[in-house]
Amino acid sequence: MRYSALKILKEGLTGNKGWKPVWRELDPKQEYDVVIVGGGGHGLATAYYLAKEYGITNVAVLEKGWIGSGNVGRNTTIIRSNYLLEGNQPFYELSLKLWEGLEQDFNYNAMVSQRGILNLIHSDAQRDAFARRGNAMRLSGADAELLDTDGIQKMCPFLDFDNARFPIQGALWQPRGGTVRHDAVAWGYARGADSRGVDLIQNCEVTGFHIENGVCRGVETSRGAIKAKKVAVCVAGSSSRVMAQAGMRLPIESHVLQAFVSEGLKPVIPGVITFGAGHFYVSQSDKGGLVFGGDIDGYNTYAQRGNLPVVEDVCEGGMAIMPMIGRARLLRMWGGVMDMSMDGSPFIDKTHIDGLFFNGGWCYGGFKATPASGFCYAHLLARDEPHPTATAYRLDRFLSGAQIDEKGQGAQPNLH
Ligand SMILES: Cc1cc2nc3c(=O)[nH]c(=O)nc-3n(C[C@H](O)[C@H](O)[C@H](O)COP(=O)(O)OP(=O)(O)OC[C@H]3O[C@@H](n4cnc5c(N)ncnc54)[C@H](O)[C@@H]3O)c2cc1C
Repeated sequence: MRYSALKILKEGLTGNKGWKPVWRELDPKQEYDVVIVGGGGHGLATAYYLAKEYGITNVAVLEKGWIGSGNVGRNTTIIRSNYLLEGNQPFYELSLKLWEGLEQDFNYNAMVSQRGILNLIHSDAQRDAFARRGNAMRLSGADAELLDTDGIQKMCPFLDFDNARFPIQGALWQPRGGTVRHDAVAWGYARGADSRGVDLIQNCEVTGFHIENGVCRGVETSRGAIKAKKVAVCVAGSSSRVMAQAGMRLPIESHVLQAFVSEGLKPVIPGVITFGAGHFYVSQSDKGGLVFGGDIDGYNTYAQRGNLPVVEDVCEGGMAIMPMIGRARLLRMWGGVMDMSMDGSPFIDKTHIDGLFFNGGWCYGGFKATPASGFCYAHLLARDEPHPTATAYRLDRFLSGAQIDEKGQGAQPNLH
């Protein structure tokens, strides 16, 4: 079933009776070529690209809850490629390029909106750092501009330019950054994978791995054993728990991150604004709600809910930079469990166990990475070698000292 303007018109005129479910409800088979553990954005994108790019369709995605129940449906929807380091910049730029063609590619409206992202500058040192970042972005083909306060004032007159605790001195602006409707990404990839023959199995928790003589032969699940030639884990916030079942200890901690949505307002915020000095970021959804967030709660947890001190801290950040937000009422908030790696960068790699692969450590930046992560993970699974843009995301980088410390903050999850 392809979506088109003609189809919508026809269905509108005939009582909307021709729409079908976008994926099948299936029981797992006994054996697959590839089993993907985790039906979040990354797992579904991996399945989609495995089928589309490499013709590998004897694939199952095993999801312990329902599709979209994890971070893919809990994030603040920001996409961008404003990264500095060699290991990261080309990867996130590849992702942004894939976002740009995604809706046509999988024939689904994911509401990709390149409304721009503004990183505010509050000191000379920060201007130097952002100028360096912007230059690195431009060198690898991404777009970046440095704005002065006049430029920002034209775009966002509601920011506090007169009396802010951290005066605004400029901004790094990436016009191609923006937002995407997060759960539509999960549904679009799910539909694209399913229509190419991938089995999506919901309510199927992986509870163990079958490992014989250093080779992974399949998984144990809440719906029975499933054999597989390759097992690809991408369970985001559950990474440490799931990989512990294979006897692996990861350089990853799990922390909760909260998101907030205000009541619907008339259009006021043109793009995405980030306020690093107070750790606050905000955009406005197409329904009018201000969508915002800040720091992780700062303690290890697997609970998908946060605590009140961080609510206060995030709202203080908002008030410090755009006092008008104090007039908006908070409508809803939620939490998601973040797989915070110790250098703030992810992993897409084989493990020391043959046939067992790992994708994780996305911290709070994995939504924007979804297309490139799926694309590169599918490449690794199909070809047994890393995709050229993801060669740095190795599990052994902490042994060799080749960390990708994007922020230069060291092993401090709350500073990534
Ligand atoms: C509040 C919040 C705001 C964020 N904002 C942004 C943002 O603006 N921009 C950005 O780029 N990133 C953002 N992120 C981060 C981003 O959402 C994540 O990095 C990304 O979604 C993680 O990948 P995923 O979609 O595959 O994860 P998930 O959707 O969490 O997928 C993992 C899946 O694995 C399943 N699973 C776990 N254990 C098992 C098991 N044993 N068996 C089977 N299945 C299992 C889970 O149920 C889950 O569905 C945010 C995250 C949060 C929580």
